Amino acid sequence: MEISAKKSLGQNFLKDEQVLQNIAQTISPDLNDLILEIGPGQGALTKHLLLKGCHYLGYEIDKRMISILKNITSNVIFDDFLSRDLSLDLKDIVYQNLYVVANIPYYITTPIIEHLISSQLNFEKIVLLVQKEVAERFCAEVHSKQYGFFTVYLNYYFSVSKLFEVSRNCFQPVPNVDSAVVCFEKKDTPVIDTKKYFSFLKICFGNKRKTLKNNLKSYDWDKIEKFLESESLSTNVRAEEISSQQFLKLFEVLNS
Ligand code: SAM
Repeated sequence: MEISAKKSLGQNFLKDEQVLQNIAQTISPDLNDLILEIGPGQGALTKHLLLKGCHYLGYEIDKRMISILKNITSNVIFDDFLSRDLSLDLKDIVYQNLYVVANIPYYITTPIIEHLISSQLNFEKIVLLVQKEVAERFCAEVHSKQYGFFTVYLNYYFSVSKLFEVSRNCFQPVPNVDSAVVCFEKKDTPVIDTKKYFSFLKICFGNKRKTLKNNLKSYDWDKIEKFLESESLSTNVRAEEISSQQFLKLFEVLNS
């Protein structure tokens, strides 16, 4: 049965078997591992993920997909992924390592990532197909145009890398943008007050045209100046010129 794509749900189905296989090959789970998929849709990627033979759990908001997915797997929760308590959903599944692999609906890329992070689950690897420009923002180098708050935010939790690009012609319907597969791998991060850190970062990147000094007017300038000197950074430096590691150091200096 042909199901028409709903633009409002970000439905661009992947039709290229080689690309689907390449995405599935980005992870090598053991049999007792678990893969989460957000938006299995008509199951194109799901079929490849199930071949891994490990546990699988999908989240699909569109109930029209029930008739198709039920022939592939019964492990799909038909609900809005963003409304789910992931720890609760996973509590009865005994698994070792946790993976996320998904061709996600682009209109909720940031909320999906934030939902994964706030679940506090221990993800071994998260592999997402996202809009190419967004992938570039996630992996941006300091000093580049794409480097910003979200780059530094993600870098606190993960090592982020762009694995490969996917042409818009691999999808049905064809979207207006090209895509890329990005991979998030957990890293050891210092335990800090993340809420405070992210609001600090927001202030640092607050006004793009302003220097760090101007954005951080309410902070202890003596400490900031000493830090900049120790990092050989100018006092007129802007947030875009400060690396993720340096932001962490500065935050720690200001809270010491
Ligand atoms: N995985 C399929 C593929 O690669 O062909 C479909 C990918 S399509 C880009 C995104 C899928 O996410 C759609 O099936 C859509 O219905 C589903 N979706 C959209 N919003 C969702 C949400 N909030 N929670 C769960 N699934 C959602």
